[in-house]
Amino acid sequence: MSRTALNRLDPRGRKVKILATIGPASRSPDVLRRLLKAGADAFRVNMSHGEHKDHADTIAGIRALEKEFNRPIAILADLQGPKLRVGQFKDGQAVIRHSGHFTLDRNPEPGDETRVCLPHPELFCVLEKGQRLLINDGKIRLRVIKASEDKILCSAEVGGLISDRKGVNVPDAEVPIPALTEKDRRDLAFAMEQGADWIGLSFVQRPEDLAEARKLMSGHGALCAKIEKPMAVRRLSEIIEMSDGIMVARGDLGVELEPQEVPPLQKKIVNAARTAGKPVIVATQMLESMIESSTPTRAEVSDVANAVYDGADAVMLSAETAAGEWPEEAVTMMDKIAEQVERSEDYRARVRFLDTPPDATTSDALAHACMTIADTVAISAINVFTSSGSTARRVARERPDTPMLVLTPSIKTARRVALLWGAHSVATKDIGSFEEMIAKGKRMALRHGFGKAGSKLIALAGVPFGTPGATNLLHVVTLTGDELNKREG
Ligand code: PGA
Ligand code: MN
Repeated sequence: MSRTALNRLDPRGRKVKILATIGPASRSPDVLRRLLKAGADAFRVNMSHGEHKDHADTIAGIRALEKEFNRPIAILADLQGPKLRVGQFKDGQAVIRHSGHFTLDRNPEPGDETRVCLPHPELFCVLEKGQRLLINDGKIRLRVIKASEDKILCSAEVGGLISDRKGVNVPDAEVPIPALTEKDRRDLAFAMEQGADWIGLSFVQRPEDLAEARKLMSGHGALCAKIEKPMAVRRLSEIIEMSDGIMVARGDLGVELEPQEVPPLQKKIVNAARTAGKPVIVATQMLESMIESSTPTRAEVSDVANAVYDGADAVMLSAETAAGEWPEEAVTMMDKIAEQVERSEDYRARVRFLDTPPDATTSDALAHACMTIADTVAISAINVFTSSGSTARRVARERPDTPMLVLTPSIKTARRVALLWGAHSVATKDIGSFEEMIAKGKRMALRHGFGKAGSKLIALAGVPFGTPGATNLLHVVTLTGDELNKREG
């Protein structure tokens, strides 16, 4: 294969990953390419908006870039989930009076300032007196006075303008709605067909929700549970256990809970996911003002920086890149913030502050040893040979200073770890022997800029190759610098 024909993209100079949501503002091949070059490592396709045809174009565009730059890219298809919405209004909108009454019912007739249809029959039997209904991102706050089979009479604690199909959050009730709607099932089948690497599951409430999605995925793709319901927070450890990754979905979480509850929860969720060794994404409103402005607020910059200090695997952009006016600038900004933080003096201490003692397994003992070795002698990269990606996850869990070069025969694994902290992945041919492995690791490290003559590398693998989780080999090698001239093995 001719390598000179490929466009070059250097490995990122940072550990944290950037996940950019693609939408009308960024779907074109040109903007996609600019986002990748500016620092996006993974892309999110939001199934709440747009048609399958648009998403198929986006995905094809991303795969074309992947080829152009010879760089595995993760695609996360985010399912809408059971997002509740009110029906429609006579005039498209109405004003709910402060401290007045408002009724939600099952009458499909257009609504007015006194009532509207709530087209979710399941809710009528679970809502109880005193519980809250939050409409339009929490801007309107209703409290249930009386709920019956076909009517929910509420007092409007905070009124305001309500319009067609606005979102409804019911933080106080466990909603007996499956985490996958009919639309989600269609979208999930589409995403699988399109080869999405990650599936985002919205409004997860119980571990069973994940089991259901997992069954439909039948072994393809990884599952990311979005934590945005109080119920999910309560069952966090079981949910983490059942998922491959976690998203701190601060948008809905801040409506379902109080906004001030989100920061401590963000830390708690990030730490719990890190301890479990599952990648964790911090999402929503990170650079919100950049939807319209070419520069962010200082508070937003600080928010991104703090997520990086917390050791999140990835930080996410939503409308900033999907629908905003400055998608490329938003990615560039995030990239710069992350680099600055990771260069700062106390970053290393902070990111390692979390005590994640290794599990009592050979894999973890070796993952931990990589870090101790790298703390003792200068190591330019940890070469991780993995088929499932599990070795890479256990090394990333330690948050070592040294970058990780993940070499895998599985393009799926190579793409999936694009969301993993500190991992640079390369899909390579299968490896047959120890000698071949060492030679390939050295070549790849040189080719991808992870070392030069005299640099030391750690090779980490499980032999025989291809047995997931069986990491049992750690080897330290020194580059001579002429490995690239040797014949391909
Ligand atoms: P959404 O999820 O953008 O799909 O709503 C993220 C969030 O709620 O923060
Ligand atoms: Mn959400």
